[in-house]
Amino acid sequence: MDYVKMTCLKCGQGNRAPKDKMNDAPKCANCGQGLMSDKALDVTPQLLDKAKGLDDTLLVVDFWAPWCGPCRAMAPEFNKAAQALKGKARLVKLNTEQYQAD
Ligand SMILES: [Zn+2]
Repeated sequence: MDYVKMTCLKCGQGNRAPKDKMNDAPKCANCGQGLMSDKALDVTPQLLDKAKGLDDTLLVVDFWAPWCGPCRAMAPEFNKAAQALKGKARLVKLNTEQYQAD
């Protein structure tokens, strides 16, 4: 069976999900968080690094900031895209103001 590697976006645990079960809402073996979300989840730079190294699924990252009007305007559309691409790609967002030091 083919497996797809995905980092849990909540706890950072590396998971393997059967490829043909991607539409069945695979869950993290460690914390139970759904590995496929129908909205964009917030991530930390550390988690993003890990996911970039491990994940087989496509990861789309929105680097945004609370003071950025267009970013906020785009957020609902980004969530819609996350829903549309569920099972194919994961959309996440990183608050660049919160993690400036990195
Ligand atoms: Zn987890």
